Amino acid sequence: MKHSQNARHLVFLALVLSAAIAAGCSSTSTAAPTAADAKSFLDNVDETFNRLSLDANRASWVGQNFITEDTEALDARATQALASAASRFAKEAVRFDKVTVPPDQRRQLDLLKVSLVLATPSDAKEAEELTRLVSSMRGVYGKGKWCADPAKPDKCMNIDDVTKVLATSRNEKEVRAAWEGWHTISPPIRTDYQRFAELSNKGAKELGFADTGAMWRAKYDMAPDDFTKELDRLWDQVRPLYLQLHAYVRMKLHQKYGDAAPLKGPLPAHLTGNIWAQDWSNIYDLVSPPNADPGFSLTSILERRKMGHLDMVRAGERFYTSIGLDPLPPTFWERSLFVRPRDREVVCHASAWDVDNLTDVRIKMCITPTAEDFSTIHHELGHNFYQRAYKDLPIIFRDSANDGFHEAIGDTIALSVTPEYLVKIGLLDKAPDTSRDIGLLLSRALDKVAFLPFGLLIDQWRWQVFSGQVKPEDYNKAWWALRLKYQGIAPPSSRGEEFFDPGAKYHVPDNTPYTRYFLADILQFQFHRALSKAAGCTAPLHRCSIYESKEAGQRLNAMLTMGASKPWQEALNAMTGSAQMDATAILDYFAPLQKWLEEQNKGQDIGW
Ligand SMILES: [Zn+2]
Repeated sequence: MKHSQNARHLVFLALVLSAAIAAGCSSTSTAAPTAADAKSFLDNVDETFNRLSLDANRASWVGQNFITEDTEALDARATQALASAASRFAKEAVRFDKVTVPPDQRRQLDLLKVSLVLATPSDAKEAEELTRLVSSMRGVYGKGKWCADPAKPDKCMNIDDVTKVLATSRNEKEVRAAWEGWHTISPPIRTDYQRFAELSNKGAKELGFADTGAMWRAKYDMAPDDFTKELDRLWDQVRPLYLQLHAYVRMKLHQKYGDAAPLKGPLPAHLTGNIWAQDWSNIYDLVSPPNADPGFSLTSILERRKMGHLDMVRAGERFYTSIGLDPLPPTFWERSLFVRPRDREVVCHASAWDVDNLTDVRIKMCITPTAEDFSTIHHELGHNFYQRAYKDLPIIFRDSANDGFHEAIGDTIALSVTPEYLVKIGLLDKAPDTSRDIGLLLSRALDKVAFLPFGLLIDQWRWQVFSGQVKPEDYNKAWWALRLKYQGIAPPSSRGEEFFDPGAKYHVPDNTPYTRYFLADILQFQFHRALSKAAGCTAPLHRCSIYESKEAGQRLNAMLTMGASKPWQEALNAMTGSAQMDATAILDYFAPLQKWLEEQNKGQDIGW
């Protein structure tokens, strides 16, 4: 939940996730294919994906639960086999473009064609070069270190160290040095990125897309250019709230830092508590309102009650069964990882798994008795219940309606972890009255509202690079123009073309699309509003929980069981009664905060 924009949270069929960096391979059958050929092609895809993804998921599970060189190698090999198959099938699906087939088969073929994140050119040498560029960019980022003093290599800082300085230091000089320091890791990626864009565009064109950005946007059941406009429409809906939050935070930063944080114009990127200014919750202490204490601490309650990890997961499961979903299978309890093992290295970052694409769902998490983990459990289980709901569909449809939906579902349920819910499950005696909610809403807005413009602009920049609208000689200029336009953020010092600041964000060198996080952030509030309405909640939206509402459960399940079998607009409609995404639910949710911010900002300039 907390880290979804930073790392992969969910492990499912690697079809969409995989970089699919396999050498080009195209089938060259000359006879015109028939509907029967299409059917047998899809049967083969289904069988192959089932087999290879089971292998890959098992290898990944073992790789992350018993980290050794051998398990890592086995994991990489199995994942590569699946990625190669996905790449090959995506290219082969084009053969059936002119064949008349039943609608559900047409949709499977179309989804296959848009499943690639990276299309390698058919020229074997170029394909190999592209594959090499991506792993080299990843390597540069992954090994990235800032060394303030080359004479003291043990003092060099990796991304975790830099992140900690940005989050905790309130010394402007120190923070600025760390910010500038981290941005020294990416200039070496710049020429690689330019060549990568050229070659990946070539691959995308061979598949019939205008460029790589158009290939990414083609996943969204809309014309690629309409999708771009749709995102701007959503952003315009929520922008008034962002402007209030921005002005308020700017005023507070000025009170703390004086001239280093001017009262007008953009926010200084390095003073927001996060290296990319994508999440401002680390500076909550600088901006918190009086009376911000909600009057209880879930973490202390969990500790006092001696809630064990299994108690916490059972409470999470009970949330889902209370709305009418079936309990988790016994294998979930036997095979999941809930605590950090004492005797071996594991990847503790919380994740949800669907190992056999059927019923073998699991979570992997090192649970501690904290409010954050309690909420994260609800989030991760959302993935598992989604995975199980669509298990009877062909494997290509065993996925969320679009890539924003999976993360949004878990977060939607986490929004139902309200004081009223805690009272109902016996963890809290009495819910505090709503006059104390501003602190909670503000800290949530620093995370979810502050993130929106960043979630939007990463791909805006890449789409413009891929389309050629932004030329290589303007990479950095265009990046900062977008950051100013959407986020109202400015760098602490001049950023010429000797830098490559987009490359200092993981998802750019890793070539992971980012729009899904923007969509998930919008959708979770829309889902929450619709389900709360179905549950008959009349409280302020941020106090609604769908716990125990069978009506909400039915709405939710109607959408989950559709998987990716229908355009996302239909799935959205099944749940919310509307086929259009709508960011006004965010305004409803934060309405008390917006009113409060407007009062605080009286007499201040709004915007930059
Ligand atoms: Zn997640």
